Amino acid sequence: MNYIVLDMEWNQPMYARPAFLENLPCRLEGEIIQIGAFKLNDQLEQQDSFNVDIRPVYFKKMNRKVEELTGFNAERLRAGMPFPEAAKDFLDFCGEEFCLLTWGADDVRLLRENLTVHGLESDWLEPWYNLQVIYNIQTESDHQQKSLETALKFFDIPQDLPAHDAYYDAYYTVKICQKLDIKKGIAEYPSSVLSKAKEEKAPELDRKFIKGYPSTKAILTDKRLQAVVCPDCKKALASNVYWTRQGNNKFFSLIHCDCHGDYVVRLTVTKAGKKRNASRCTQKIDAEALARYEEKIQKERERAEKRRQRSLEARQKEAQAHVSEEVDIV
Ligand SMILES: [Zn+2]
Repeated sequence: MNYIVLDMEWNQPMYARPAFLENLPCRLEGEIIQIGAFKLNDQLEQQDSFNVDIRPVYFKKMNRKVEELTGFNAERLRAGMPFPEAAKDFLDFCGEEFCLLTWGADDVRLLRENLTVHGLESDWLEPWYNLQVIYNIQTESDHQQKSLETALKFFDIPQDLPAHDAYYDAYYTVKICQKLDIKKGIAEYPSSVLSKAKEEKAPELDRKFIKGYPSTKAILTDKRLQAVVCPDCKKALASNVYWTRQGNNKFFSLIHCDCHGDYVVRLTVTKAGKKRNASRCTQKIDAEALARYEEKIQKERERAEKRRQRSLEARQKEAQAHVSEEVDIV
């Protein structure tokens, strides 16, 4: 089995959270703009490396802080490759059997979010290990998170490459790995940290991605997507949710768990050639968001009522025309 040492840079929204984020299938804290990685064999010897820039589609404007840190500017952003291609290349690079090693827990979380937003599978991220945890245990440090810099200083590793570049940071992370006993670190990895990482994933357990529908209608009537459980307690909350349209390829439904409160179930339809794919995710919402969604449902009901009225009127007119035609004939 190989180890993939991964580091990424991501862009963030310029100001407060933009409204369009609500329509995404999951939270998106940052949009990945660079993936840097090294492949190590089980002796921690370097086998291969990976470095791509990615063109963001949500946070397209460079956040000033991120720009200062990473040196990424608008020009470099535009030259990046689309995320789905980059993700595919990265997975090809990772190979058949691998586990991810990262400095901190942010990278894997962000990568999972980015994959989900693009309708891509994220199961392959498991298993992954946070090297900060292994470092703290093996250097007998406290439980505080340590920066990459702290670890480099601790091991007397010279830092002459620019910081905040995914490729160089991944390179430095490799240098730290080579000072640690990774096999032992993984064997001794605290189960509490593993279960915490699983907990963080918990909201995704009720995430569904189903491919290959002949039409959007087939998606909206699929019982598998209409059955929803509470992401927190797994209790079945609904077996046939009604989808309210929200934009072209997006639908939602509201559900309520007596123990855990309100959730929105979002359904996104994407085209794949002549077929349609569906991705669904259930997310907790507060009272304010609930009110906004209820308003949307109300408006959609009013529109539906108007459509019903119009078609009723049209049918009545048609019927009247018919009657007068018959009268003429008589
Ligand atoms: Zn619940």
